[in-house]
Amino acid sequence: MGIPKKGEEPLSVIRSLVERRTKDPNYIKGEVLGSMITQPSEIAIEAYKIFIDTNLNDPLLFPETAKLEYEVIRMVSTLLKNPKPLGLITYGGSESNITAMYTLREMRRGSVIIAPMSIHFSIHKAAKILGLRVIEVGLDEGYRADISEIETQVRRYRDNVVAIALTAGTTELGVVDPIAEVGKIAEDFGIPIHVDAAYGGFIIPFLKMAGYKLPDFDFSIQGVETITLDPHKCGLAPIPSSLLLFRSEAIFSKIYFTASYMPTGRQKGLLGTRCGGVAAATWAILRATGIEGYIELSKKMLKNAKLLAKLASESGFELVIEPILPIVCIKLPKPKRKIFQYLWSRKLYACPSSMFNAIRVVVMPHIKEAHIHKFIDELKKAVEKVK
Ligand code: PLP
Repeated sequence: MGIPKKGEEPLSVIRSLVERRTKDPNYIKGEVLGSMITQPSEIAIEAYKIFIDTNLNDPLLFPETAKLEYEVIRMVSTLLKNPKPLGLITYGGSESNITAMYTLREMRRGSVIIAPMSIHFSIHKAAKILGLRVIEVGLDEGYRADISEIETQVRRYRDNVVAIALTAGTTELGVVDPIAEVGKIAEDFGIPIHVDAAYGGFIIPFLKMAGYKLPDFDFSIQGVETITLDPHKCGLAPIPSSLLLFRSEAIFSKIYFTASYMPTGRQKGLLGTRCGGVAAATWAILRATGIEGYIELSKKMLKNAKLLAKLASESGFELVIEPILPIVCIKLPKPKRKIFQYLWSRKLYACPSSMFNAIRVVVMPHIKEAHIHKFIDELKKAVEKVK
């Protein structure tokens, strides 16, 4: 199909899109159970529309849009205990992680990244792009990065280490690496830590405020130099919205590139044009939800995850671990691909685990109790029916 010769009626174009959208899974109906994305809030969508024609790449032309980006970075830096608002909005956790590895490599000129096997694949992608090597370390019994293995590799590679990359809320199980403990090693050897809190960054601080005992992962830990955190995951912002935050000017300055035709003569970040709507949407959702709103949201997600874990256990399934953050990984007595296909045929999108014969549910804000009951019923049927 080529571009139509004569333009179609706008209403009919929109009608056709509305119809086509019904063919992809729906968040509100509880069909999306394995993704870290959720239905964005209405206010964020409205804010996006107001600034949809602005460009974060051109701060001289759109100074107010640039100010919104700065204010987002300031709000979240404060949350993560950095008095200096240094950072930028990117188009996703992958871009933030790749940018972090780039800036740290520019700073240190080493050749390896030390990371646990649970690290998100975007760190491996960064290594490939930047010509670095990931030295993978194992996990402890709680599926966290193994501290002594990290120390061994740090001693081995010393000045050749660009960064130690750790996760606050792993993709697979939602566990938090021992960042404070590794921080001591990093400090002793003068090696920066990058924390990938793409998923956990919008949950952990709020659960801690609600009294849950969770490890620290933020700039209060010496050695943590850069943090990725995604408003488009648990922050209720629309795609694309990720933040990359920096502790120091020295590393932050590495995100600027010479850009000859730009009036400022330089450009921030790996991309060029970035829609100002992203900054406005993220700004709006932070302001409209507030700390109290995010505390409630995080508590609700964890409560629902615990309900799912309980129902799964009562139905005879074994969990890989008790949920720490709202991710539930349920072991299966039948092949995971087949169970996944059955659930998918029932319009339930929960992901097969990459590490275990298990199915993984990410309990996002759109998942309600009724969806959890339905999922467990269908999971039991899947196990009965699949050979
Ligand atoms: N980091 C972690 C821990 C993730 O779980 C993900 C995605 O699930 C990413 C990074 C990549 O984020 P994005 O898909 O927004 O690029």
